[in-house]
Amino acid sequence: MQAASVSLVPDLRQQLAGLSAVELLAAVATQFPGTAVFSTSFGLEDQIITHLIFEHNLPIKVFTLDTARNFQETYSTWNKTLLRYGQAIAPYFPQQASVEQLLLEKGPNSFYENVDNRKECCGIRKVEPLRRALAGQQAWFTGIRAEQSANRHDMHAVEWDAGHQLIKFHPLFDWTFEQCWDFVHAHSIPFNPLHQQGFVSIGCAPCTRAIKAGEDFRAGRWWWEDQSAKECGLHSTHNGPDPVVEPVLAN
Ligand code: SF4
Repeated sequence: MQAASVSLVPDLRQQLAGLSAVELLAAVATQFPGTAVFSTSFGLEDQIITHLIFEHNLPIKVFTLDTARNFQETYSTWNKTLLRYGQAIAPYFPQQASVEQLLLEKGPNSFYENVDNRKECCGIRKVEPLRRALAGQQAWFTGIRAEQSANRHDMHAVEWDAGHQLIKFHPLFDWTFEQCWDFVHAHSIPFNPLHQQGFVSIGCAPCTRAIKAGEDFRAGRWWWEDQSAKECGLHSTHNGPDPVVEPVLAN
């Protein structure tokens, strides 16, 4: 087994070009046995990847970041996914002491006050748990698609993540939103009902709103902030321009 390194990325881009999503997942899982993981936040794209992994019994660990601030609909989708596939989804929870300290010092909604507070909350509830989830892993799959943000057009389906020291793969990178919906309906995949109420990118409940027709995919995330500050830190460490990101997972 090769160790993940930035030098592998150009070859992997060539090898994996043209593969379907499930072929890409299988090829990467074979190349990085036991060290390939997928992070889900139970959004539309994530549900497709979860479906492919579980239906094809691919040796990829599926995990989620439970920030403890998710929508009830997200927890419900999580539960429906467990019932549908009967396979484990590993939860990563924030460190109790860190959350307690945050709540003690700043209360439950400090993220609305300024960007630093918001990043502090994301750091405690998402970034630190993600670091634990990715420790020792070599390949990380995400549900990112190119059309989700203008910045993402500078990204690739295969990228080096310098912060986590692993290779990041986006199996649905070239999929359109319509393709995702078609696939979900065709395979009766459980999906978050908030998607039918104008929520596109779904993260924590206090920090996500529905978007209006014509708004950017990410407009419903941290809508009170400047566009330039909308970064949760989960995907901020790839080798290229910082994208406006998805809490992947989460969130
Ligand atoms: Fe906290 Fe909001 Fe970030 Fe969730 S999205 S971790 S509630 S600041």
